[in-house]
Amino acid sequence: MQTPSCKYCGAQWSYAETFKNIFKPRMICSHCGEENYYQSDNKSSWITLFGIPIVLMVALLLDLSTSLIILISVILVLVHVSLFPYRTKLKKVDKK
Ligand SMILES: [Zn+2]
Repeated sequence: MQTPSCKYCGAQWSYAETFKNIFKPRMICSHCGEENYYQSDNKSSWITLFGIPIVLMVALLLDLSTSLIILISVILVLVHVSLFPYRTKLKKVDKK
């Protein structure tokens, strides 16, 4: 797992830098100032979220308490969000 690197200057973005940029529509490289785009064809990026219904089913089968199920779901969402910088791939702006 790796944080993404800028498609223009090649500088690898730090975890914090990537994380900050994820929530912005445009991902500006702090090294060269160029605009990078989020490459969305990374199908594995939603695997953690797909895991939630499975966890919920297992939790129901095991007859876990509701608060525990909610806790597990929250942890899964947090894991999903915290791993985002490692799954983020950048691409150059398509200049037409
Ligand atoms: Zn750059």
